[in-house]
Amino acid sequence: TVGAVALDSLGNVACATSTGGIRNKMVGRVGDSPIIGAGGYADNRSGAVSCTGHGEAILKVTLARLILFHMEQGKTAREAALTSLQYMVERVNGGGGAIVVSPTGDWAAKFNTERMAWAAVEGEVLSYGLNPQEDCKETF
Ligand code: ASP
Repeated sequence: TVGAVALDSLGNVACATSTGGIRNKMVGRVGDSPIIGAGGYADNRSGAVSCTGHGEAILKVTLARLILFHMEQGKTAREAALTSLQYMVERVNGGGGAIVVSPTGDWAAKFNTERMAWAAVEGEVLSYGLNPQEDCKETF
């Protein structure tokens, strides 16, 4: 999956999610990525999310919309992503990750898989990571 979320200076959010699917997929399989609410969702009231991981699990819990639901209930982007990913493990034994941004610029990149490459740009600061142990920051 290649996913993106964005926030503009007016508080508008957007998401995009693209994938080649999973290995050995059945002919005709439609994964989570093109399904609104599963692989991605954006709403100026709560934020934008793009997901990656086990598409069948993401579809079952509508992961992107679930994360935004938790943000609407007052959780931060980080808390909402972690809570929702934990729920996906408990409920359907699913692995995956998500990138999230709120209309105020609160953002997170969280995953329960071994690794997920991510990067974020805020002004002149680039943050990036691949695994849970090594997040990096650079100014450009
Ligand atoms: N979520 C995608 C799918 O199940 C796979 C991926 O993360 O690339 O189709």
